[in-house]
Amino acid sequence: MRDQNPNPLRRRMLRMGLAGIVATPAAPLFLAPAAADERMSEDDPEARALHYRHDVSDVDHEAYVEGQNCANCQLFSDPDASEWGPCEAFGGRHVSASGWCMAWVERV
Ligand code: SF4
Repeated sequence: MRDQNPNPLRRRMLRMGLAGIVATPAAPLFLAPAAADERMSEDDPEARALHYRHDVSDVDHEAYVEGQNCANCQLFSDPDASEWGPCEAFGGRHVSASGWCMAWVERV
């Protein structure tokens, strides 16, 4: 049988397009946002950007003022949480009550 499409680049592009159509319905499975109750990792890029640490005793940042911690931060949205609670700066992912990051805001 004679090849209807002798251009190898075009043939490859058509195959890639078909693969994209097949993969599209599965994309949300891979792009789902992090679960809100997921614990924040210190290695997460967002945590690194804000110098988040689980324990204030590990904080070495000029913006840190003694006494500040996640439990007394306005963005710690469950003040009744004693150990880990949701942080608005990290999309609701949980941070340690005794942690800190440079987005700390005094609870009012
Ligand atoms: S924004 Fe507040 S609660 Fe969130 S990690 Fe920073 S200090 Fe902790």
